[in-house]
Amino acid sequence: MELTETSCDICNSDDRTGLFVKEGFVHVRCNRCGLVYVSPRLKDHLAGQVFSGTAEMGDESLSGSQVKRILFEVKRLEKYRTTNQILEIGAGKGWFLEQAKNMGWETWAVEVNAKAIDRLEDIGLKHVLNQSAELFEAPDGHFDVVRMWDVIEHLQSPRKALERACRALRPGGLIRLSTTNFASLSRIINGPEWVYLNGADHIILFEPDTIDRILRHSGFSNIRIKTRSFNLRRKLYHPEKDLTKVPLFVKPLRKFIDEMIRFSRFGHQMIVEASKY
Ligand SMILES: [Zn+2]
Repeated sequence: MELTETSCDICNSDDRTGLFVKEGFVHVRCNRCGLVYVSPRLKDHLAGQVFSGTAEMGDESLSGSQVKRILFEVKRLEKYRTTNQILEIGAGKGWFLEQAKNMGWETWAVEVNAKAIDRLEDIGLKHVLNQSAELFEAPDGHFDVVRMWDVIEHLQSPRKALERACRALRPGGLIRLSTTNFASLSRIINGPEWVYLNGADHIILFEPDTIDRILRHSGFSNIRIKTRSFNLRRKLYHPEKDLTKVPLFVKPLRKFIDEMIRFSRFGHQMIVEASKY
């Protein structure tokens, strides 16, 4: 397992403070801009995304309510439709783009995972680019919408990918992304045992402040951040028996907190929209 040191993706600084070590991966916070990231990280990180990675994980088919949620999202993008071009970076199995295509959008997918690419081609998407998020080749000023769903935490340089996305968008176009929230209540309660801390795969951990900062650095404005969801799940990547118990007082409150947390910035998923002007 060969490792490589990295500096802060937002401000290039090497000045940082160690937070904790999980499964051998050191998580640090940049002293200049506050970004949390893993350093050193796996040297062959990109190869990991090509041959395994999370793009090929998840459901083999979607439930009715999952399809409904995607259709609702696609319909909300209607007001941006002028060039009729939509791009998803890290398209995975293509659940979102498949519905967008059914609604008449011309779809573009950027994906590096080999199995995911096979499926994207099988469902007949028009443009499937087997290229990295940082360096993909698509026309500039071309897209009404760029979507990145649970992707930027996996990238070697989210800043380069966002700059590339900004160039690809037309003026007035929308970027819509989601990522986990390091400043969430779930992470604060669970500490390093938080389920999304997985240093081999999730190498940059954003918070509302740092996602706002990186989007501004990449050319976006009018940044809108919502958060949602509170869960105490700890066993996605780790055997549950190795983990400490969730504090007892939290359990009866879990559902209530889950409902209410979307009114705060402490939910564990951030859903972010920003515009290119
Ligand atoms: Zn920094």
